[in-house]
Amino acid sequence: MIKTAIIRLLLTSTLLIYSALTMAKQIPLNRLTGQFDEKQDPAFIALDATILPVNKKGMYLQKEPTEQLIKAYQDFKKIHSDIPFIIVSATRNYNYQNGIWQRKWDSLTTQFSQPQQIAEEILKFSSMPGTSRHHWGTDVDITSVSSNFFKNDPKGKILDAWLQQNMKNYGFCQSFNEGRNGGYQTEEWHWSYQPIAKQYIAEYKALLDHNPTKITETLNFTGHDQIRLEALIKEYVLQVNPDCY
Ligand SMILES: [Zn+2]
Repeated sequence: MIKTAIIRLLLTSTLLIYSALTMAKQIPLNRLTGQFDEKQDPAFIALDATILPVNKKGMYLQKEPTEQLIKAYQDFKKIHSDIPFIIVSATRNYNYQNGIWQRKWDSLTTQFSQPQQIAEEILKFSSMPGTSRHHWGTDVDITSVSSNFFKNDPKGKILDAWLQQNMKNYGFCQSFNEGRNGGYQTEEWHWSYQPIAKQYIAEYKALLDHNPTKITETLNFTGHDQIRLEALIKEYVLQVNPDCY
């Protein structure tokens, strides 16, 4: 009797510890989909309060990626003091992304009649609200959001070469690199802090594989109910550089 009770107690406590551990690993849905206010979140840092150059006020990132980005910036500047290394975008929450989506949607309705076409046009460079890596506080855009700058401008070419060669040393991967089979077009400027972002994409993928409506039912942006929503989410969230997984 006592033996059975002890075994039962052991089993119950093991289960409790196991569920506590797995729960701790899970990233809440509202963090995955950007439905929170990064300015109120103690895990986020205002870039204004750091030495990182920014092109606008009020941008935030999680603490660890901020620290690593500062190191990258400092090391870059030691060699290339005359070349701009500026953060031009960091965390963008759902509401912010929804503003971008709505503006683009409205302007494209004059050229395209099918909602699916409009969505695909926007998706060349901009995410559906709820599906952006910028929601995670791990991703930044550096200096310019124009491929022309990185490919043709002499300063852009130097910056591009340095980022490609060195950002991995600080934990960053280029999410939207060349040679992917779908998803967003190449974004030379977009860098992602892999040690944390890989947890977000793993969690996102698990939901898409097993319970996609948990994500789709939280999305209410214009056109969400007129497009192949689930297929588009799968393509654009998951088609990233394998180094970012
Ligand atoms: Zn970006």
